[in-house]
Amino acid sequence: MVDRPRPRVDALVDRFGRIATDLRVSLTDRCNLRCTYCMPAEGLPWLPKSEILTDDEVNRLIRVAVQRLGVREVRFTGGEPLLRPGLPGIVAAAAALRPRPRLSLTTNAIGLARMAAPLRAAGLDRVNVSLDTLHAERFDAIAHRRRLPDVLAGLTAAADAGLTPVKLNAVLLRGVNDDEAVPLLRFALTHGYELRFIEQMPLDAQHAWDRGAMITGGEILAALRAGFTLLPDPAERGGAPAETWLVEGYADAAGRPAKVGVIGSVTRPFCGDCDRTRLTADGQVRACLFAREESDLRAGLRGGATDEELAERWRVAMWGKRAGHGIDDPAFLQPGRPMSAIGG
Ligand code: SAM
Ligand code: SF4
Repeated sequence: MVDRPRPRVDALVDRFGRIATDLRVSLTDRCNLRCTYCMPAEGLPWLPKSEILTDDEVNRLIRVAVQRLGVREVRFTGGEPLLRPGLPGIVAAAAALRPRPRLSLTTNAIGLARMAAPLRAAGLDRVNVSLDTLHAERFDAIAHRRRLPDVLAGLTAAADAGLTPVKLNAVLLRGVNDDEAVPLLRFALTHGYELRFIEQMPLDAQHAWDRGAMITGGEILAALRAGFTLLPDPAERGGAPAETWLVEGYADAAGRPAKVGVIGSVTRPFCGDCDRTRLTADGQVRACLFAREESDLRAGLRGGATDEELAERWRVAMWGKRAGHGIDDPAFLQPGRPMSAIGG
């Protein structure tokens, strides 16, 4: 039943009965890398500073989300969130909220060697670090910057600071790093990191995504099984995007069975269990990565809206969330903004 009226509840519910409790906050659209699947080598026209939410505005919207809308998990992303000077203060403000949300950061880890300890002290719980290759020259080819040593130093610092479990995100690209499924997992197991592979999605600014060229989750699993025995993970998946497997014979840093995940956004969509809501760096609510609509909270913030008015706009935006991303629909259109501007 799709056309029923929106119920008068505090939570971010949609017409399909999903409840969003996991907020992705993009803190900037800028980045110091140029991953080919995300941004063109020459970069993008960045959002003007006046359009980016101030730290106080971000803090207020996170407070509204946690205290009025039932958000329990806040993940900071971008662009590259470590480029945001106010990040430790934003983390500290979120950590001071009650109920305290779980706090994580998705980052390329450049600068994390310096920032890991202060972010931990501010209240950050965990990090997800993007790492597609262990070869310096391939890193340069994928990200257009010679920064692999900085990423590896950032990873070590994150683990040392207790930002655990450290999760790794990897995108495999055909003919570039598609022979690294096993080496990346071996690296993750050796260091006690939890690795997840992400299928490449049509979210690049260049619109160069090609489904035929995409490395599928099935291919990734087949490659992993050549090096490891994977067993079904008995844990409940819930709203988690990754399907996970236990890696026989290995344990994580806490002594639990080690896991590897595959986020099959394209071939095995998990939209029916999605519990995400997204806030862009310029104050737009998005119900989905692939949404073509955004709801402006910045105008309300700057125009004197009360917390409850902001919360109500957010609820209305999420009520309109579509059933799925529709990548397989012949009429699928890539969203107007790329991943770096939406917040991955
Ligand atoms: N800069 C940070 C980073 O790279 O972790 C945070 C933002 S980035 C957009 C978040 C995640 O999205 C990264 O793990 C990245 O690999 C992933 N990503 C970016 N573009 C993608 C695409 N077209 N398909 C799949 N994953 C993508
Ligand atoms: Fe930057 Fe992350 Fe996009 Fe790479 S994936 S260009 S690190 S925002």
